[in-house]
Amino acid sequence: MSLPTPSGDLHWLTAAEARRLLDSKAISAVELTTAHLDRIAAIDQSLNCHISTFPELSLEQARSADERIRRGESASLTGIPISLKDVLVTTGTKTTAGSKILRDYESPYDATVVRRLRDQNAVFVGKSNTDEFAMGSSTENSAYGVTRNPWDTTCVPGGSSGGPAAAVAAGEAILSLGSDTGGSIRQPAGFCGIVGFKPTYGRVSRLGLIAFSSSLDQIGPFTRSVEDAALMMEAIAGHDPADSTSAPMPAPDLRSGLTGDLSGIRVGVAEEYSVDGMDPEVAAAVDRAVDSLRQSGAQIKRVTLPHTRYALPTYYIIAPAEASANLARFDGVKYGLSIQGSSLREMYEQTRGQGFGAEVKRRIMLGTYALSSGYYDAYYVKAQKVRTLIKQDFDLAFQDVDVIVAPTSPTVAFPFGARMDDPYQMYLADVFTIPANMAGIPGISVPCGFSGTLPIGLQFLGKAFDEATLLAVAHAYEQSQPWWKQHPAI
Ligand code: GLN
Repeated sequence: MSLPTPSGDLHWLTAAEARRLLDSKAISAVELTTAHLDRIAAIDQSLNCHISTFPELSLEQARSADERIRRGESASLTGIPISLKDVLVTTGTKTTAGSKILRDYESPYDATVVRRLRDQNAVFVGKSNTDEFAMGSSTENSAYGVTRNPWDTTCVPGGSSGGPAAAVAAGEAILSLGSDTGGSIRQPAGFCGIVGFKPTYGRVSRLGLIAFSSSLDQIGPFTRSVEDAALMMEAIAGHDPADSTSAPMPAPDLRSGLTGDLSGIRVGVAEEYSVDGMDPEVAAAVDRAVDSLRQSGAQIKRVTLPHTRYALPTYYIIAPAEASANLARFDGVKYGLSIQGSSLREMYEQTRGQGFGAEVKRRIMLGTYALSSGYYDAYYVKAQKVRTLIKQDFDLAFQDVDVIVAPTSPTVAFPFGARMDDPYQMYLADVFTIPANMAGIPGISVPCGFSGTLPIGLQFLGKAFDEATLLAVAHAYEQSQPWWKQHPAI
């Protein structure tokens, strides 16, 4: 565990702290960016958080940010160093999705979230590592090498957004963006001891997010504090006419509700959020968190979510089914890698055979099978019906409570290789995060303690489009139990 941070370290600032220093001219965006680029140069060789960096471009963005600040026109993220998960298409640099098939791909347009950050003159320090096409729970499925957990470099950072999570945890960026289809923001945030927030489905535009499972994917932030998650959400959320699944609602005001007050808040605890093989230290940390919420004035109530145990198997029908359709576009013609053959069919086979890794192929096969005629009703349609039941569980529970509290994952970070031979064990890392994606509701992971040197994540789930209450409760918890102020010794 680390000692308290010396206050001079620019790479441990929150975005809110950095904003004050930038606007008072105590530091410049160029200094702040340089501090992060230096940090990346010093430690990323051992952590491998980033697939690509582009220091010249970053410094150019920092100079524009400084000019804007000089004019007194700064927005909340002007000059703030941010890392982008490499599934967000970004002009001026490559976007690989962690796959060989997109090794040299450059997008002709920016994802909507990327454009919104550019509009604020934020600074991009790099594109961060991910399991191939965001399929995985450990970042071991990246074609660009594993990312190491900054708290213990023999362990995984979680996944699929291991790169952006570890980058914020290690001080390589102040903020980052990830994507969460079944837990890929919350679970790596938990494993890396930072805040990870998955918004309500539809709250943030998915335009320019390389699609894995379109009805489940959501983009969201990794941050050190809940306040920073609110800041980032205010910047990226809100209707995008170019994404038909984006909700026609403006970006919500999230910061004004961060009062630290829990009185009158009803917090649900569900017995279903416990499984065989659960780490007793995780369970104990969550129990202590519930006690602390009670002491801070929250009312703790039992709720029941009886279909929870079907979420994981249902997810592994729906997500691969949608993935198999989404990944059909990588055919050697439209994007990236193209390996010629003597026929069109051979070109497809060669390109896809060599371009995709083992887990992606497994998902394409599972999904194609589930969608094939004769099995479609038995698997895919049935899974969609079960999905409705999971959503109804939450609708009912949220009649009695404002948020639900649960562990983020049943264990802390595990060693490299520990689950690679057993996909089912790997899939279990997301057993507590997947239900929120199935129901489309928002969820956040905040640090709630340690097991040895490894962080433990606490998850709060909220009502659809009520991010304000969810963040207010997570913020109040974080104020009373400031685990987030600890940093790894790297
Ligand atoms: N680990 C889960 C999977 O492999 C979730 C991934 C994600 O949220 N992108 O599908």
